[in-house]
This record gives sequence, C-alpha cells and structure tokens, in this order.
Amino acid sequence: MDASIQAHVEVDLNAIQANAASIKAHTGGQLVAVVKADAYGHGAIPVAEALRTIADMFAVATVAEAIELREAGIQEPILILFSPLPGFAEDIVAYRLTPAVDNFTLAQKLNKVVEDSKSRSQQASTEKVKVHVDVNTGINRCGIRYTEAAAFLKKLNTLPHLEVEGIFTHFATADEADKSFAHVQLNRFFSVLTNVPNVRIKHAANSAATLAIPESHLGTVRPGLSLYGIYPANEKPIPLQPALTWKARVGWIDFVQQGEGVSYGLTYHAPSRTRVAGIQVGFGDGYPRPLSGVGEVLIGGKRCPIIGLICMDIMVVQLESSDNVAVGDEVVLIGKQGSEEITIYEVANRANTIPYEILTSIAKRVNRIYS
Ligand SMILES: *Cc1c(COP(=O)(O)O)cnc(C)c1O
Repeated sequence: MDASIQAHVEVDLNAIQANAASIKAHTGGQLVAVVKADAYGHGAIPVAEALRTIADMFAVATVAEAIELREAGIQEPILILFSPLPGFAEDIVAYRLTPAVDNFTLAQKLNKVVEDSKSRSQQASTEKVKVHVDVNTGINRCGIRYTEAAAFLKKLNTLPHLEVEGIFTHFATADEADKSFAHVQLNRFFSVLTNVPNVRIKHAANSAATLAIPESHLGTVRPGLSLYGIYPANEKPIPLQPALTWKARVGWIDFVQQGEGVSYGLTYHAPSRTRVAGIQVGFGDGYPRPLSGVGEVLIGGKRCPIIGLICMDIMVVQLESSDNVAVGDEVVLIGKQGSEEITIYEVANRANTIPYEILTSIAKRVNRIYS
C-alpha cells in the first residue's frame, strides 16, 4: 500500500541534522540529543540514526525507550533522564545504559548487579556502570535536592562498580521571558559543582536555555524540541527548520443543504447550501479535538475551516463552491502548501496546548515517511 495516500507525517531528517549542527555551532560544545517519546513523534530510531555523527549522546525518558534504540543497533551512549526504579538495574547493566540517579537504592542495586555478575563469571566485563546525578535545583519533580547533592556524590563514590560520569539539573522556567528563576537554579547548580570537581560531564540546558541562556551551556547541552525545528519560546537566535509535515487526503466531497447539521451532535448548521469535504483524520490520530469549529487545514493552497465536531477517524471542512478540489487531493494539517502555512504554534495555540503535546500525540497509525 502507498502510505502517502492515507494520513501520514513526512519527516525531513536533513532538517533535523541541520538543526543539530546549528545548535552545536551556536554552543560550541557537546550535544546530548533528546529523542524521548519516539523523538517527539518523529521516530526515535530513524532520528537517532540520522544524528549519530552529530550527537555525542542520546537521551530518553525510560529504560524501554533506551532498549529500543540498542536493539536497533544504536551503540552510542544513552542517558535515561529520569532515575529508573531499582527493578530496572539488570537491564541497565545488560544494555550498557547511563541512568540518571537521584537515590542510593538504585545506585546500590546497580553496584550489586555488577558485583554479582563478576562473581558468576571470570570473564564478566570489568566495566563500571556510568551514571549521571540528577540535581533538583528548584523544579521539584525529581532529582536529589541541591543542598544534599555533594554528600550524595560522596556516598556514590563508595560504590566500586559505579562511575559518576555526569551531573545535571533541569530548568523550570527557561522558556519564560523572565530568566530570574533560571539564574537562581543555575547558581544553586554552580554551588554544587564547586564541591564535585571530578565529574566529567555537566549539563543543564534544555532547548530554551540552549537558545537563550549561554551561561547554562557548561560544555554540554541537552535540547529536544529545537532539534525538531521548533522554538520553545520567542527567542530565536539561530535559524531552525521544522522537520515535520502532517498530511492527509480529501476523502469525500458533497453539499450540505441550508439548515442541515454536520458531524456528531450536529453542532454546526449550514447557514446556506455549503460545499464540504471529509478528511480521514481525527482525534484517534492525535489531531486535537479542541480544534473542532476552530482549526483550519490547507487544501489547494487555501485555508479551509474545520466545521462541526472532530470525530475519532474523520473530520469535515468547508470548501468554497468554486474551489477546484477533488477526492484524493492533498490536505496539509501542519506544514506548508503553496504559499500558505499552518504552523505547529498555530495548531497548539488554538488547541490551548504546547507544540510538545501536539507532536507526542500523533498516533502510531499515522505512518511516518522519511526523506
Ligand atoms: C525533555 C527534557 C529535555 C529536553 O527539553 P526540550 O524543552 O525539549 O529541549 C531536557 N532535559 C530533561 C530532563 C527533559 O526531561
């Protein structure tokens, strides 16, 4: 089946490579490429393969996401951004993953897994488990509290099979115009760093800080969203290219008569005889239902308003009677068509959410096509 005749997403891997290269040129340091949540909906495996020669490390949220990359042949270091439960220790060692650690229970369990494997086999690798300590400097969602971090590192150093390769923190408000709390967090992190001089890799900057807070770069940055060509805030110091276009096809065209309703609940009534098109995309594909009666799509290079409620699998848009539109024509939900563009910022704003949620909601049944 030709995947492009149904709703699909086109991912421009060259754009992602170019964005990663511009970010590296902007910071002049190492890049931890965040490919969690299936690379923000772009596909973790193809994105990681495309970034292999540019990224110094990959980062994901879960052990399962990291194993998926390892099984696809990605050999580069993989950081797990959130300290996993101790039950994941065997997998972390077996797949040579680099977990964030924010508690001694996980650290001890990792140490014990290596210890046990050594006592079972003489040939067992002598490699230590590399970990990055997650320091909570104020986001208060995970991490070891900054006031306790130096003592925690000392304790970790008593474990012979563990190597504290990195230490990091995460900003709560780097995407806001007011950077004062980001600087409070950064200063807390600096105060920890002065007490732990031997840790090789230090990092703090998400996309917002990578773009707008140079003091946070620390030789290594950890962006996600910006790799995919999307700005987290208004600051745009470097050019980025959006990598994703979401397309569908016109599936049905008809006229509804004056006064007739459209879609579930018949919430839209045609004020006069109206030409409409059915597009086979809905909230089951991750298209946001709040765009019912609010959003627009592009057909023939023109904006067409979505009318009535968006269904799970289909939605209806309004055409002009004079539009030269036929079943099978291309529809753009996010991206460019002719001289028009619907940006992800527009879609997210109208759905009262953020680009991150739009991207990570695009369903598995929407094929990804790569170029
Ligand atoms: C998701 C995440 C990032 C990347 O954030 P962006 O805003 O997408 O750049 C970096 N660090 C941590 C800990 C994260 O959870």
